[in-house]
Amino acid sequence: MARLLFTGKSSGTFDPNSGLSNRDHLAKTLTLSNSTFMKQVHGNVVEVVDKNSTQLIEADALVTSLKATALIVQTADCLPLLMSGLGADGLEIAIAAVHVGRKGLVNGVALNAVAAMQKLGAKKITGVVGPHICHRCYEVDDQLFNEVTALHPQTKSADRRLNLFAGLAAQIPQVSLRDLNICTLENSRYFSFRRGAESGRQVGVICL
Ligand SMILES: [Zn+2]
Repeated sequence: MARLLFTGKSSGTFDPNSGLSNRDHLAKTLTLSNSTFMKQVHGNVVEVVDKNSTQLIEADALVTSLKATALIVQTADCLPLLMSGLGADGLEIAIAAVHVGRKGLVNGVALNAVAAMQKLGAKKITGVVGPHICHRCYEVDDQLFNEVTALHPQTKSADRRLNLFAGLAAQIPQVSLRDLNICTLENSRYFSFRRGAESGRQVGVICL
């Protein structure tokens, strides 16, 4: 079984500018010899990690079939999606870490990650979404609400609020998806971009 971890504020920030020492600390604590971070740009590029690189990769999804290689996504209110895929023999063959915000839902980054896992032989995929802003809290303006709900009707929540998890679940129905139901805006133990008091990032980590 893949190893999964979601951090909160108590583990410190992992943002690319100020979180470098926390990254080293995490790697040491979890005895991760290889950990891959992304330079996230709200795009839909998937990087398939097939050798251990210390370079910062510009992407919003990481996929690998390498063992002992941690894939890491950093978030504040966006959805950190971690996935694991079983091959035809029932053994775990591929994992993914995906950054899914509103833009990522619209540009289909999770779909691309699922396709990349399938290319590596994944037949049955499960996923878990860690702390993110919930459908009661994610209020947007009229134009954005209309745009997103026209494309993804399942995101429609009351009073111009978007349910990104519901949109994601509908977008990748082939993935058995679970929500940890932790709202970053409501729970002060997590970093929230919208709460704004601090600008840190927590991480989701997955390792085969
Ligand atoms: Zn909430």
